[in-house]
Amino acid sequence: MRVLSGIQPTGRFHLGNYFGAIRQYIELQHHDQAFYFIADLHALTTIRDKKQLRELTQDAALDLLALGLDPEQATLYQQSDVPEVTELTWLLMTVTQMSLLEKCHAYKDKIAKGLAADAGLFTYPVLMAADILAYDSNLVPVGQDQVQHLEVTRDIAQRFNHIYEKEVFVLPEGHVLKETSKVPGTDGEKMSKSYNNTIGIFEPPKKLRKKFMSIKTDSTPVEESKDPETCSVFGLYKLFANDEEQQALAERYRAGGMGYGDAKQTLYEKAMEHFAEARESREKLEQNLSDVEDILQAGAQKAREKAREVLDRAREACGL
Ligand code: ATP
Ligand code: MG
Repeated sequence: MRVLSGIQPTGRFHLGNYFGAIRQYIELQHHDQAFYFIADLHALTTIRDKKQLRELTQDAALDLLALGLDPEQATLYQQSDVPEVTELTWLLMTVTQMSLLEKCHAYKDKIAKGLAADAGLFTYPVLMAADILAYDSNLVPVGQDQVQHLEVTRDIAQRFNHIYEKEVFVLPEGHVLKETSKVPGTDGEKMSKSYNNTIGIFEPPKKLRKKFMSIKTDSTPVEESKDPETCSVFGLYKLFANDEEQQALAERYRAGGMGYGDAKQTLYEKAMEHFAEARESREKLEQNLSDVEDILQAGAQKAREKAREVLDRAREACGL
């Protein structure tokens, strides 16, 4: 059983990325063969500054390892270190219908905003298909927003297998954690780098506290009863706390007499506690950057071996 997922280094990771993606990676890393990659080729459609791309890629590796990704259990690599995937992308591109890509939301959204999209953004789901199919992946943990692209991967794989009358590619299944599919940001909308409403996982404590304090709430006066279920502060607290702790805070909401500032402080303390170990471990990793480099290199070597095998199968099927 192979689990595979990638994450783009287009900005520092936030709580949405953690609860919607990274935490799942870590939970699933005990499956026989977990492959996780830093999607630097995908990030090129957004980041056009070499220093920034390098820094964000390194931060992504540090963050993932600090949060508990164990290189003994899972293979961690940089997407661009596996050129077999880009070759496979071309083979897949030749069987991908334009109409399939025209339906994809990343491209459609951009066009709808009146922005010009480049071919990289348009064909991004094909690179994603290659990322997945190159490793015979069975299970792909994704956020709700990637479900459509996973369907595209299955479509492309099926079409290739059908055209060349051979089971070249394994059809992957998606794995979405429903309750965390939409982590709210400081404005109550879905937390997202592009909306400027994120709370970073590793922000310095003071800054982090400020972010939590800035979460938008309604204007119910302190003494009145409040509804936890419609409040983003409580929504975030639920992600960190166990049932008992959730109930306790919900009661304080309903009883009245608690201001939102208190709830935010409770949330902040909980978040600091949750990530305390990760923060410590990140500091240690920062002192040993060459070890991190070694982990990525070893991961890439392992990933390339598998990708080569699948690429050869695909080349053979189409007569190359
Ligand atoms: P962008 O604004 O560029 O789309 P993002 O902040 O949404 O960036 P992505 O790189 O799109 O981050 O997402 C990385 C992973 O984190 C994906 O699996 C995505 O589903 C998940 N994710 C991102 N934001 C959230 C969120 N608010 N709630 C749950 N999951 C999320
Ligand atoms: Mg997104």
